Amino acid sequence: MGNPDRVQDRFAAGAQYIAGRLRPGTSGRTQDVVDPATGETLYRYELAGPADVDAAVRAARTALPEWAAASPGERSDALHRFAAVLADRSEELAHTETLQCGKPIKLSREFDVPGTVDNTAFFAGAARHLQGQSAGEYSPDHTSYVRREPIGAVGSIAPWNYPLQMAAWKILPAVAAGNTIVLKPAEITPLTSLLFAEAASAAGVPDGVVNIVSGAGRDAGEHLVGHPDIAMTSFTGSTAVGRRVAELATAGVKRLHLELGGKAPFLVFDDADLQAAAHGAVAGSLINSGQDCTAATRAYVQRPLYEAFVSAVADLMATVRLGDPLDPATDLGPLVSHAHRGRVAGFVERARGYATVVTGGEAPGGDLARGAYYRPTLITGAAQDSEVVRSEIFGPVLVVLPFDTDDEGIALANDTPYGLAASAWSRDVYRAGRATREIQAGCVWVNDHIPILSEMPHGGYKASGYGKDMSAYSFEEYTQVKHVMYDNTAVARKDWHRTVFGDRP
Ligand code: NAD
Repeated sequence: MGNPDRVQDRFAAGAQYIAGRLRPGTSGRTQDVVDPATGETLYRYELAGPADVDAAVRAARTALPEWAAASPGERSDALHRFAAVLADRSEELAHTETLQCGKPIKLSREFDVPGTVDNTAFFAGAARHLQGQSAGEYSPDHTSYVRREPIGAVGSIAPWNYPLQMAAWKILPAVAAGNTIVLKPAEITPLTSLLFAEAASAAGVPDGVVNIVSGAGRDAGEHLVGHPDIAMTSFTGSTAVGRRVAELATAGVKRLHLELGGKAPFLVFDDADLQAAAHGAVAGSLINSGQDCTAATRAYVQRPLYEAFVSAVADLMATVRLGDPLDPATDLGPLVSHAHRGRVAGFVERARGYATVVTGGEAPGGDLARGAYYRPTLITGAAQDSEVVRSEIFGPVLVVLPFDTDDEGIALANDTPYGLAASAWSRDVYRAGRATREIQAGCVWVNDHIPILSEMPHGGYKASGYGKDMSAYSFEEYTQVKHVMYDNTAVARKDWHRTVFGDRP
């Protein structure tokens, strides 16, 4: 397990990164960062209050003119250097992410950190390729073109499940497009956002372009969203908090980007490769202990495969090794906190009254008892309108339901307020193709579930929010498009002036 003193020393200067340096918060309130594998406090820091948010916004506004005026090539060079610094610091990033979140070190090393380095390299390239309509004479008398301009100082709020990647997804497209940013990570997991911002500075990104305020949602978060000098809010988190953020941003007529909750369906047709589907369901529901907005949560399995699927999934779940997240052999770490484990367990305990808990449904004992662990859990026999089918549990819990016809399977998959991600499992290209067209979600995988790519957009339909992270599509969020129109005639009385002056000479 990690050495708490090391973390306390590493961030001794404080958990606020403003204008290129770490400093303490001034809210007068402290927050513990706890290792969920042991329950030990790794780091205690002073939370950001409104004055710290004001200082960070000032820093972002001060840095804005020069950063916005930098050429795409200059911003691209800085981001390329940033990717190289992150790659050099991979092990510190992975270790710290695992300590504060409890995620297995192999996940941090093979997914979170390389994904972040790749995102950074992608945006370094994309910064030079902002697309727009081509300049031209769309009327014979005028030449038009579009300018794609940064929006200003952006305020971002991120969740605790992938703190490093969420910081990257918010910060990179914003700064690649010439904006500056103030990011508020979740207060229980601020450490890798701070390392990310430090790496930006080490790469030569000017002070004030990337700022981090580690504060609580209600005060620092709301102050940031409502701040008059913030031009845009981008938020990733739960749908409930997203609604509150939307109210505040709307009152200030701010541009808003919302990446919210999910309840991804996993649709298995009766011609699917059973072993592939069972492995996909276990990996897709247990990744990051199920604390993944796109995790497979509702498996709908066509009746002929249903029993075999349930038993294959239960067998595979039994092979997953819970353990110390810093041990490379560990498959499943603890949940992010004891409080969150209690929330997940509550869903499962209530489900015992109306469904069958086939496997799991408990915390392990022995050496793991002090951590926030929860065993992989498989539930069957739940009704479509039950809580475990409808609500986001955000834990290692998979619910499996049967269906008969393809129409019914697709209808059940869509019967949710959410629309972030889904998968369809079939060897028939027409069946799978129909599912990709008819499932209402921002991503539909065929015969896989979870992989993401820097080049491809990530974002929701329905109550999962709007706007895209990653990919060139994210520039739609972080830029504003200006139409510039030149008159080509050089005449004082233009044709269209007839509508005002009539035909008088
Ligand atoms: P959360 O909504 O509780 O918190 C998210 C962030 O909002 C935190 O930084 C929190 O401090 C802040 N916050 C809380 N109240 C606030 C308020 N009143 N005003 C401003 N900010 C406030 O979410 P969480 O529990 O940290 O994360 C899990 C949720 O995030 C899940 O619903 C998950 O699906 C979602 N998520 C979505 C995506 C996506 O891309 N769509 C990605 C990751 C996580």
